Amino acid sequence: MPGTLCITWTITSSSSPMPILPCARCKNQRAFASSGRFRLNANGKRLDAWLIYRCTVCDQTWNRPVFERRARNTVDPALLDALQRNDPGLASKTAFDTTSIKRWKHGGDHGLSVAKAVVSACVADAALLEITVRMPSPVPGKRCDKLLALGLGVSRSAVGKLARTGWLTFEPAAVNALARPVRDGQRVWLKLDGLSDATLLRATASGRADTPMSAASAPVD
Ligand SMILES: [Zn+2]
Repeated sequence: MPGTLCITWTITSSSSPMPILPCARCKNQRAFASSGRFRLNANGKRLDAWLIYRCTVCDQTWNRPVFERRARNTVDPALLDALQRNDPGLASKTAFDTTSIKRWKHGGDHGLSVAKAVVSACVADAALLEITVRMPSPVPGKRCDKLLALGLGVSRSAVGKLARTGWLTFEPAAVNALARPVRDGQRVWLKLDGLSDATLLRATASGRADTPMSAASAPVD
């Protein structure tokens, strides 16, 4: 579309969700953090594999099952190798999967990064920004307005004002989109035409501002 600058934001977090569990040593509910290490146990021809977590207060361990009592010859050799090497990719993927976890706490915003990439040919005078959010691994509970504030380099209240006055629109169009968690593939539009700080917003949103935030290029599909 002429006049539209298409951008992808790829969101990654190094702080994985922390399950809230009863700690046997603390005798209390505690947040447990992934150690990034696996434990493999052979029992005859059966294998168990766990990702090791530690209580954030006392270091007590909790073993999170990757699989249990699996016949050795049915385990993919590549998976077995990754478990033995404490492969960081597998550890991260496992730690970010919250499907089997009842209660968890966000690992914090400190490790959150937004890698920005311009998808369409750069339109210098674009009147509309189309931002597509990509999350290769889930970043649970990240509110849309917080992410937009981070990506646009403005405050959350400024994001709220842009939405209320119709400059920011969302897919799907929902009144409470700002308070909802961002999902992979979410699209957001920002009208620039007539905005006083349009040049700065365009530069920041596309990663072309003075402080380059782009660390990796987003997959373009
Ligand atoms: Zn503890």
